[in-house]
Amino acid sequence: MTFQSDQSFARQLDAADSLASYRDKFFIPKTPDGKETIYFCGNSLGLQPKSARGFVEQEMKDWERFGVDGHFHAKNPWMPYHELLTEQTARLVGAKLNEVVVMNTLTVNLHLMLVSFYRPTTRRHKIVIEWPAFPSDRYAVESHIRFHGFDPKRSLIELRPRAGETAIRTEDIEDILEGDGDEIALLLLGGINYYSGQAFDMERITRAAQAQGILVGYDLAHAAGNVMLHLHEWNVDFAVWCSYKYLNSGPGGIAGCFVHERHGGRIDLPRFAGWWGQNKHIRFQMGPIFDAIPGAEGWQVSNPPILPLAVLRASMEIFDEVGMQELRAKSERLTGYLEYLLNQHPCQRYSVITPRDPAQRGCQLSIRAPEGGKQIFDHLAAEGVVCDWREPDVIRIAPVPLYNTFSEVYRFAEILCG
Ligand SMILES: *Cc1c(COP(=O)(O)O)cnc(C)c1O
Repeated sequence: MTFQSDQSFARQLDAADSLASYRDKFFIPKTPDGKETIYFCGNSLGLQPKSARGFVEQEMKDWERFGVDGHFHAKNPWMPYHELLTEQTARLVGAKLNEVVVMNTLTVNLHLMLVSFYRPTTRRHKIVIEWPAFPSDRYAVESHIRFHGFDPKRSLIELRPRAGETAIRTEDIEDILEGDGDEIALLLLGGINYYSGQAFDMERITRAAQAQGILVGYDLAHAAGNVMLHLHEWNVDFAVWCSYKYLNSGPGGIAGCFVHERHGGRIDLPRFAGWWGQNKHIRFQMGPIFDAIPGAEGWQVSNPPILPLAVLRASMEIFDEVGMQELRAKSERLTGYLEYLLNQHPCQRYSVITPRDPAQRGCQLSIRAPEGGKQIFDHLAAEGVVCDWREPDVIRIAPVPLYNTFSEVYRFAEILCG
């Protein structure tokens, strides 16, 4: 798509945007003087769907009315409540129904997956992650390495961009997987790196790793609801994601988990069990023997919190109506437009570190400003832009296709470059 740099072009793009009406389904935060902010922070906390309150109120009413019997007699009985999200979640990440479950929070799910899928031996004990990995992922991985009696200094490999580059090259990842292949137990990557905004070629990387006998997991915190995912087809071993970023489930919302169906029935895998993973037919016999539900649901531990699930349903209903394909098409235009406008105003004060190739990024652009970055960020905030600052020198900007507009992108570029 070719862009133009005048404001009327932004209005034209908004007028032609078939998803424009979805903005009205969300509450847009306001500045202290009552104007709508330019909210480019949906990569950190997505906005509240206006329909969410109704979903929560339904459960509050049913709890008021039924007490414990709500497990069976609520409008949407709580016993199988999490199953209401299964189909939508499977479509969102490109999975089969028995490969996904919503449960817990992201890092908790990561720990549960590491218990099952990081099985180091003296020969094969290494985990490969990207640099910079999200701190929580790094802490989790290091703790498992130590838990098994290994030393992260020897057992943790971090993939880095080449000197002078900001993205990690796929061929460099392949080289490491081949070179160290028989010592690597697990590859764990953010599908999209939270810092640089780089989207990895998950299909190709998965293939390269598995050719070496390496298990592959993805943290999709920044990818779920942002880019197209085909976890089943890509043959990914497991994946985890949170839902409060692009998926708008509210602060601390309930997370997702994918386990490929070829692992779903494996009773040889160790796992940390709980009663909600117990075969549904016998769960309430309360017997002593654990018999896991086949598929991702078998990794559930506790009965899930209904109120956060209710909020997630509100958001997932919207995602399902729009479809990831449409959403992604708009996202590429919106972020492409932002990139175009930033390039129109070549500025010495910052550079974009996110890859230029749309296939290698989602909606986020990360701007590096080594000098005066914090002042730029403060200026943006003062002008009503909500984005975030990541030490030491990066501003992350995420125009979200569900609720952001081309005119907001235009205005943002004016403020940033003005
Ligand atoms: C946001 C994010 C997390 C957050 O973890 P929680 O367990 O939800 O607090 C973890 N990893 C990545 C890559 C993230 O982007």
